[in-house]
Amino acid sequence: MVRIERTRGGVVVDALDVATQRIERWQAASAVVALPVHVAARVVQDAPGFLKDAALRVVQAPWLVANLHLRAPLHDRPGAAPSWDNVLYGDAATAPGLGYVDAKHQSLQTVAGATVLTYYRALGDAYGSPLVGRQLLQHKPWAQWRDEIVAELSVAHPDLASKVTRMEITRYGHAMAVPVPQGLCVRRSQNQSVAGHCRCRPGAVCALPTATGRATRCLKRRSLPDTWPAVAW
Ligand SMILES: Cc1cc2nc3c(=O)[nH]c(=O)nc-3n(C[C@H](O)[C@H](O)[C@H](O)COP(=O)(O)OP(=O)(O)OC[C@H]3O[C@@H](n4cnc5c(N)ncnc54)[C@H](O)[C@@H]3O)c2cc1C
Repeated sequence: MVRIERTRGGVVVDALDVATQRIERWQAASAVVALPVHVAARVVQDAPGFLKDAALRVVQAPWLVANLHLRAPLHDRPGAAPSWDNVLYGDAATAPGLGYVDAKHQSLQTVAGATVLTYYRALGDAYGSPLVGRQLLQHKPWAQWRDEIVAELSVAHPDLASKVTRMEITRYGHAMAVPVPQGLCVRRSQNQSVAGHCRCRPGAVCALPTATGRATRCLKRRSLPDTWPAVAW
């Protein structure tokens, strides 16, 4: 949808019909808006103050998701059985990813076969700020990501490289909100906070998180910027 407007009789929603590339107008008594806040603040006409504030406060982390197609199961080493969700042991330098999930983990087949592993990497704070991570995600060539991911996973699975037949990498510029202290703080009015522990002064918005992910100070109220950081996907 591209526009939501409250009217005297209810709500008017303009939505793009992708097949025809035409805008359709819908009317309803009310609408539940479950969009990411930075989108909602733009789509909702005359967006309420708390929504504009939330759009300024909430920081979205860029994520990389890679699907690795394996022609055969990985060698099952002695020890704990493989899980659905597997996290590699190591520090940020040796294992920067969040691990991987195995799409065939709950398969009822008695003999393990070809599968798909989905590897995740959150770039929100890995390089100091989501903006840097986003730029890295945008500019680093596919082949470089491929080599890094195979190298990282090969520490735990030395046979992985010989079994991968295909890798699909998806870049999510604003994959998910980064939770920070006071991130859910919403003021009902200039002087009253809904979340009792909100320490922002009246008329201020919480600062964006620092590299360590902590909101450290309050900023003076700013208006919603006309332009957002340029991210093209
Ligand atoms: C790779 C990945 C793995 C995750 N794994 C987990 C996990 O294991 N466990 C967990 O608890 N959480 C996980 N999360 C987080 C979880 O997915 C999110 O926190 C949750 O989906 C957020 O829900 P939401 O409804 O706020 O937003 P979303 O799920 O993002 O929903 C927003 C919706 O709005 C739609 N939209 C956007 N713009 C428009 C528009 N203009 N018009 C119409 N529709 C629009 C989007 O298409 C989307 O469907 C993961 C997230 C990612 C990215």
